[in-house]
Amino acid sequence: MNELHCSPLHNWLGIESAPLLIAGPCSVESEEQMMSTAREIAATKLASALRGGVWKPRTKPGTFEGIGLPALKWLKQAGRETSLPVITEVANALHVEEALEAGIDMLWIGARTTVNPFYVQEIADALKGVDIPVMVKNPIHPEVGLWAGALERINNAGIKKLTAIHRGFYAYQSHPFRNEPKWEVFFELRRLAPGLPIICDPSHIAGKRDLIREVCQSALDLGMDGLMIETHVTPEKALSDAEQQITPLVLKEIIQSLETRHELIDDERFIARLEELRSEIDVLDAELLEILKRRIEVVEKIGDVKEENQVTIFQMKRWFKVLNDRKKLARDLMLDKETVHELFQLIHKYSINVQIKVQNREKA
Ligand code: PEP
Ligand code: MN
Repeated sequence: MNELHCSPLHNWLGIESAPLLIAGPCSVESEEQMMSTAREIAATKLASALRGGVWKPRTKPGTFEGIGLPALKWLKQAGRETSLPVITEVANALHVEEALEAGIDMLWIGARTTVNPFYVQEIADALKGVDIPVMVKNPIHPEVGLWAGALERINNAGIKKLTAIHRGFYAYQSHPFRNEPKWEVFFELRRLAPGLPIICDPSHIAGKRDLIREVCQSALDLGMDGLMIETHVTPEKALSDAEQQITPLVLKEIIQSLETRHELIDDERFIARLEELRSEIDVLDAELLEILKRRIEVVEKIGDVKEENQVTIFQMKRWFKVLNDRKKLARDLMLDKETVHELFQLIHKYSINVQIKVQNREKA
């Protein structure tokens, strides 16, 4: 990825320190709903910005698709009254134009837009020469390249006040979350763009009120730079995402209950103990890799035998049996079944690739 030229959040948001908190409803539904939600959020004195969706990308047709232009006005009015900057989602050049016209302070690009470089480029072109903070949500599926590419397109348009929002990833039968956090994708974006602020959207990850606190705590523990939380005066009556929105009062309780953990502390005993445990891990990891190496050697032999006998590499029955047996073993060992499932998917993919190589070698 090309280096991004972006400035730290507190430089342009006027916040004293991280983490940044953005709160507000999933959708701006009426003047009254937006104003009362904004007033209650402002009263907590915890939020640095107000969110509100004006054009709603909905999976199912026939559901509430946002109010459009009048909602932009109510959002801006709520910002003025509470002295908080406001942010909304844009999905095309016309949205950008209308949001800028209405004096919206910041924009975000939604997960369903980040997946498509044509849309992102259209937005980037509409933003040329404009100095406005832009936040880019991750695409729906866990492809860091698309996320990084979208950020680069916006950055290339001259936007320096750039932030990424991690909102989790669609997964078939995701449980317990609505969208799987897959924190490793966030780690990868950090590695690719170390200076880029990255905040978390626990609402869309959790999908349910009860899980929001837990996701917030994980996000902070992992060093994310802020939170965007869907907040509504009467969440159960919300026209979109009713199950995951919380009241400003609950928002306050959650934020105040979050623990700040240190990245490291300067305590000799702690550091010594951590070093000791890490050495144990290093030895175990070396053993794991030794075993993987031995497993691959056997896989190569299997590849040879299959090739000699003209047998296909992928054997569905055997694969299902391996997966089931390993998951049973995982359960007996009190290991997480789903994680072991994913681990063996990866190991199996590796084995298949090794066998393909063996076959090609023998053909050549
Ligand atoms: C939203 O923030 O309300 C929204 C639609 O988010 P996402 O693009 O993450 O689904
Ligand atoms: Mn929402």
